[in-house]
Amino acid sequence: MTATTARQPNGAADLAAHADGLLAEAADRWERTGSIPRSELAGLAGAGLFGLTIPVMYGGSGLPLTDVADVHAAVAGRSPSLHSIVVVHSMVCHALVRWATPALRERFLPKLAAGQMMAAFALTEAGSGSDIRALGTTVTPTDEGDTLVVDGCKRWISNGLGADLYLVFGHDAGAGRAVLVPPGAGVTAVPEPETTGLRAARASEIRFDSARVSADLGVSRPGFAVPHVATSCLTHGRLLVAAGAIGVARAALHIATGQAAHRIIGGSVLGERQLVRAALADSAILIDGAAALLATTSRAVEERASDAPIRAAKVKLLASRAAQAATDHAARLLGAHGMVAEHQVTRLLAAARTYQVIEGPTEVLLDLIGAALVRGRQAVSGTGEAGP
Ligand SMILES: Cc1cc2nc3c(=O)[nH]c(=O)nc-3n(C[C@H](O)[C@H](O)[C@H](O)COP(=O)(O)OP(=O)(O)OC[C@H]3O[C@@H](n4cnc5c(N)ncnc54)[C@H](O)[C@@H]3O)c2cc1C
Repeated sequence: MTATTARQPNGAADLAAHADGLLAEAADRWERTGSIPRSELAGLAGAGLFGLTIPVMYGGSGLPLTDVADVHAAVAGRSPSLHSIVVVHSMVCHALVRWATPALRERFLPKLAAGQMMAAFALTEAGSGSDIRALGTTVTPTDEGDTLVVDGCKRWISNGLGADLYLVFGHDAGAGRAVLVPPGAGVTAVPEPETTGLRAARASEIRFDSARVSADLGVSRPGFAVPHVATSCLTHGRLLVAAGAIGVARAALHIATGQAAHRIIGGSVLGERQLVRAALADSAILIDGAAALLATTSRAVEERASDAPIRAAKVKLLASRAAQAATDHAARLLGAHGMVAEHQVTRLLAAARTYQVIEGPTEVLLDLIGAALVRGRQAVSGTGEAGP
């Protein structure tokens, strides 16, 4: 298999350290230029970054999710944009591992593990963002049944310009469908307006105008795409975004503690002030809490626990709050420097804001968690009626 060209890491710490070294210089440049050159992604592929969640038999590293999460945190702390590209790639790999036919897995996973192919996750549409049940894209089989015709327009697709394969969600007469579509005839990628957060991931609009693909590129049975494939991909993605948010929060706290320890104001270091210490403590507590929850949630997702989707929503919320608090505190402690557009803290802050919207906006996840609590209480009381 060609995928064996990917370097097999000895473990998460090894890979995180390797990626950290590779990213130290590059991350800043990517954010400034607003893109990550494909040639540099290839270098990271050699470190095993794109096959983290792919089984060893397909050329991936098959690391446990707890270790994968550690690598994601390290990558996002350096480059939130690269991290988001790895997340969507991993979500598509997850869909293939879990829902695709053995033939499709055999055909694509080795190349995806080696980074020879990059994948993008194409779910969002203009009329279907936080509500994924309102998809307008159609995936229609021809009369002969050997071809699927895709029509629709996907919005804000990370790495949409650079991807070699899109996992597209749509429907046929109301039955949800997921299908792999390579760029080609009938597929047009147009960059979206530049975003403040995850800028170098180059979110793009992808138009499908009667794009025809072989029917064997369908992933899972018709009707399964939204309730099963998309949901399990989003659970996986929320876990990885939580890991990234923790990495961003840690990077911000590192900046903040450096400032508190060294910046002298009025004859003493900033960190002598109780209010400053409280801000650092606030960030640290949220980070530690989110990291602890991430570890248990990773295991629950790995074991496919029935409440894994709710747990993933919870950790994504907590981690994105940690990122928001830590980046806010860090930017403020830097004073004027924290307002500089090209400063690392500004990018971390923008990433933290983006985490409140991607992979389920905060309000949607709160609603999901609250609804599960109400359902649980109703199940215990055996009625749907309100009670004390
Ligand atoms: C940088 C970036 C990268 C992205 N990458 C991808 C990608 O790779 N693939 C992909 O498919 N999509 C991607 N997206 C799209 C992202 O998933 C959507 O932006 C997100 O789902 C929200 O959809 P929307 O923007 O249409 O907001 P809307 O659905 O219009 O929601 C707007 C706001 O309304 C509020 N809201 C929504 N629902 C509720 C509710 N039930 N109760 C209370 N308030 C509510 C929330 O505050 C929400 O933020 C990306 C977005 C960004 C910014």
